[in-house]
Amino acid sequence: MTLPILTVKALKKYFPYKKDLFVKAVDGVDFEIFPGETLGLVGESGSGKSTVAYTIVGMYAPTQGKIHYNGEDISRLSKNRSHEMKGNIQIVFQDPGSSLNPQRSVGKTLSFPLHLHQRNRKSGFPTTAVELLDSVGLPEENLYRFPRMMSGGERQLVAIARALATGPNLMVLDEPTSALDVSVQAKVINRLLALQKRFDLSYLFITHDLSLMRNVAHRVAIMYLGKICEIATIKEFFERPLHPYTKMLLSSIPVATEEEEALKPDTAPSSGEIPSPVNIPTGCGFHLRCPMKMDVCTRHDPETTSIAPDHKVRCHLFSGAS
Ligand code: SF4
Repeated sequence: MTLPILTVKALKKYFPYKKDLFVKAVDGVDFEIFPGETLGLVGESGSGKSTVAYTIVGMYAPTQGKIHYNGEDISRLSKNRSHEMKGNIQIVFQDPGSSLNPQRSVGKTLSFPLHLHQRNRKSGFPTTAVELLDSVGLPEENLYRFPRMMSGGERQLVAIARALATGPNLMVLDEPTSALDVSVQAKVINRLLALQKRFDLSYLFITHDLSLMRNVAHRVAIMYLGKICEIATIKEFFERPLHPYTKMLLSSIPVATEEEEALKPDTAPSSGEIPSPVNIPTGCGFHLRCPMKMDVCTRHDPETTSIAPDHKVRCHLFSGAS
C-alpha cells in the first residue's frame, strides 16, 4: 500500500480579529497527498485555501490539528523545522514579481538555495544554476538578467527553478498561473507537468480555476469557508459531483466540447458571495446560498460522509439528516 507523503488532519488556523473574535480561515481540514500525485485545492477568494498552503510550508503555525510529512510531525513554524525538511517542501507563489528579489540576478537567486541544500539534495536533481534554468526551459543567458528585465512567465519559471534547487518531494503551487497572461499560462502548466514526471514530485495545486484541474490534478478538493465540502478523484468529481456548491461552481465553468457540456450539472450558476469568515453562519456555512437548503442545514454543520473509497462530501443531503 502506498503511504501518503503529506497528511493534514483536523487542521485549524484562526487569526485574532477583535476581542474574543477570530477569523476562522481554516476550520477543520483533512486530506492526504500521495507520492507523484497532484491534489487540486479549489475555492473562491476567502475560502481559506492559501492559508492551508502557508500553514503546510510553515509560514503560519496551526491553531489546532496536525500536519505529517512522510509520517513526521511538521506542525511547526518553518524556523523550527529541520534544514532538510525545509528543502523537502517548497512553495511557488502567485506573483513572481514580488517573490523574487529585484536586486538579485537570476544566477544569484538560483545559486543561493543550491549551495544551502547541496548536502541534502536528492540525486537526479539539477546541481547548477544552468541546469536549473535548463530544467524549466530557459537558456543560460538568463543567469545575468534581473527580474525586471523578464516577462511574467519567465519570472515564474525562475521561481519554479528556485523551488527545485533544494530537491523537494512536495511543491505547494499557490495559484502559479493566475497572474500570467493566458498565452503563457499553458506553457507554465506544461512545464510543471513535465517536471512532476521527471522528478516524481507531488503537488498541492491551489487555484480558483476549477476547469484547469481537469487536465492537471489527480484528485480535487473544494473549499468553502475554511472547510472542505467535497473531495474526489477527477473522474468521479466531473462525472458525479454531489455537493450543491460544487455543482454551482461546475455549472459556471466554460466548456469546449459537447461531451463536457453534457457533464455540466443542471444547477443555477454561482450566486451570492462567500460570507465573512469572522461571521460564519450557524449550521452549514453554505446554507445562505444553497438552493437545496433544508431546515437542518441552518442548525447543524454537516459531518463528512464517504460516498465511495475516493469520494467524500460534507452535506446533510448525504448524511441521512433531515
Ligand atoms: Fe446545502 Fe444543506 Fe448541503 Fe449545506 S448541508 S450544502 S445547506 S443541502
